[in-house]
Amino acid sequence: MFWDQESETITRSTLQQLQLKRLQDTVQRVAQRVPFYRDKFKKLGITPADIKSLDDVRRLPFTTSADLRANYPDGLLAVERDEAVRLHTSSGTTGKPKAIFFSRKDVDNAAELIARSLVMTGITKKDVFQNMMSYGLFTGGLVMHYGAEKVGCLVIPSGPGTSERQLMLMQDFRTTAVHILPSYALYFAGFLEQKGIDPRKDLALRKACVGAEPHTEETRRRIEQIYGCDVYNSYGLTEMNGPGIAFECEHKAGLHLWEDNFILEIIHPDTGEPLPEGQTGEMVLTSLKREAMPILRYRTRDITSIIPEPCKCGRTHRRFARITGRSDDMLIIRGVNMFPQQIERVLMSFPQVGRNYVIVIEGLDDMTIKVELTAAGFDGQVEHLSALQKQMVEKLKAETWVRPKVELVPAGSLPVAEGKAKRVIDKRSL
Ligand code: ADP
Ligand code: ZN
Repeated sequence: MFWDQESETITRSTLQQLQLKRLQDTVQRVAQRVPFYRDKFKKLGITPADIKSLDDVRRLPFTTSADLRANYPDGLLAVERDEAVRLHTSSGTTGKPKAIFFSRKDVDNAAELIARSLVMTGITKKDVFQNMMSYGLFTGGLVMHYGAEKVGCLVIPSGPGTSERQLMLMQDFRTTAVHILPSYALYFAGFLEQKGIDPRKDLALRKACVGAEPHTEETRRRIEQIYGCDVYNSYGLTEMNGPGIAFECEHKAGLHLWEDNFILEIIHPDTGEPLPEGQTGEMVLTSLKREAMPILRYRTRDITSIIPEPCKCGRTHRRFARITGRSDDMLIIRGVNMFPQQIERVLMSFPQVGRNYVIVIEGLDDMTIKVELTAAGFDGQVEHLSALQKQMVEKLKAETWVRPKVELVPAGSLPVAEGKAKRVIDKRSL
């Protein structure tokens, strides 16, 4: 099923022409209106007329999250202040957040991309769509909301709310589709278990869009199995609109990036050099249609690779592989590099593992993984637990080359974050 078949199946050559035209317009706009980019162009000795082919995108400067913070609150605005109709921010865990403006057209366009994305998963106007992402400055609430309304779903803006209320809404309105953080989907499953609710029988869920934070294929499978529904990976970042930038189609084989709206590059995170299609590196995105605040070559720090083969669904927009981590998430333990996702993959391969875990690093690179077990997994028999623990340590060692400590704890004993999960507590940097 398509929302906008013509745009979604556009031929590669027409798509590339469109990208070039939109890139040229964007570069022209920021050169005229944004002093930050004007100065950068001057330093690089380039003018908008130098962008003659799509490859010339490489001549443009990168934009980093530090640039966004340095230009807070409105240094990168490319329209008059009264043309902006919406403000969102991206997390300001330290210091000021990054502020992102939307014009009227940007708001409509973001909703349009969400509509494409949701319909691509098989969601229709018949669905009751419960948006369990936080409403407010975070894009996961409002941006997703307007797109789901555009599709014609009955949208329930439940936000992250309490689990009691989520369940009540799900049951009373027969929710069929949700948009949810993977960490919350796992946590909520524990809540349902406690309430004696069997999600496969007692709920009407058929689709779950899961994203906004990294998660593994094992976690997807687990959520599918618990809820008895299809789970699709949803990727986004505030700087480029929020959700709806890239999504999985019904084949669940990588995320289609809407290339008529963004230019996708994969670069080597250290050298900044572009990598050939298929190689793993840092994703860099250039917005092509954003009006209020276009961003050139944004360093997402998300690690992935382009899947060059065309998708069976017929969409011509290329896919990228599940994000394996952020370049700044990489842990260095006793000289060995690893990503928290590798640990998650191992943990989720144990059926006894429950719904939450945390990686604590302290002292001289001592890594302890605290893992919640399911009620059945934590059956209290000391010998079982110590055998399980040993097995986990071995598997983790084989995957990461580091031997961690593993602490098995009962369900519900680890803290749960309000929004995105915090999986790593690195006390070395405190
Ligand atoms: P904040 O910075 O406030 O957390 P954003 O929504 O802008 O808010 O965060 C975007 C980041 O979230 C992405 O750059 C990426 O690291 C992560 N992210 C979003 N969706 C996914 C996904 N499906 N898989 C992995 N990581 C994701
Ligand atoms: Zn597809």
